[in-house]
Amino acid sequence: MKKAVFISIIVSGLALAGISSAAGFSVRLSNAYPTQGDTIIIGVYGSASTPQTAALGGQTASFFPFGGKYVAALGLKVTAPAGWQKVTLNFADGAVVTRWVDVLKKNIVVENLPIPPSLGVTAPQLVQSLTDENTIINKIVATVTPHSYISKYFGLPLANNTYITDRYGILRKTGDQEIWHLGTDFAAPAGSIVGAMNAGIVRFATSTFSYGNMVVVDHGEGIYSMYLHMSKILVSVGQAVRQGQTLGLVGDTGFSTGDHLHISIKVNGVTVDPLRFVNVF
Ligand SMILES: [Zn+2]
Repeated sequence: MKKAVFISIIVSGLALAGISSAAGFSVRLSNAYPTQGDTIIIGVYGSASTPQTAALGGQTASFFPFGGKYVAALGLKVTAPAGWQKVTLNFADGAVVTRWVDVLKKNIVVENLPIPPSLGVTAPQLVQSLTDENTIINKIVATVTPHSYISKYFGLPLANNTYITDRYGILRKTGDQEIWHLGTDFAAPAGSIVGAMNAGIVRFATSTFSYGNMVVVDHGEGIYSMYLHMSKILVSVGQAVRQGQTLGLVGDTGFSTGDHLHISIKVNGVTVDPLRFVNVF
């Protein structure tokens, strides 16, 4: 009797959307119909051969153990090609498994955003400083630490994360300049504690011209979180942090017009939607 119940659970489990089984193991995608800017988490369960890499387009991610399975994270750019895209999984024994995802177009909000005079810069100056700082950040997040520091799912950084003022995927037009907003902004009182979204190592903790006081945390395996515009930084480069550990305090530094926290998530160098990232990982 017990055996019969067990079998029925297995059958119903395999019937769930997104789960498929081959050669005694199963592959589960967090979403087979992701939107531009999403992260696809691929889970491999019960495989005798260790899954090694997952690839989509020109992006390759390594699998790592997490919660009794192996996972890999692939990020979709806000401008990623829409339509069916192939995900290729490579296993240690040479096996290759493919899955398909149908990438949906994101509804991009275009905003006309003149630069507030209080910031004291022109649009080209702003774009130049963002370009310079992005070059530094891109170099940091291009480094893939071949180890995961995390043991829990990601969380949001504030005690109260409900006051979202600007979301991911806004195209801001300032004169003839275009600036993508590829993070999430939370309004919060100055001095609110900013906690690490997961465990990791601090790779950047410096005051910058446009992003203000900024901290970048390396979670390993190509996943980074970033915290901008803080009034104060309370960690230093090389420091190990646990999930929720204080990184700094909410502020209004850099190109900011009020106390708020901007967070960004980088997955294999791709800037993904932080809110949708924490939904899947
Ligand atoms: Zn922002």
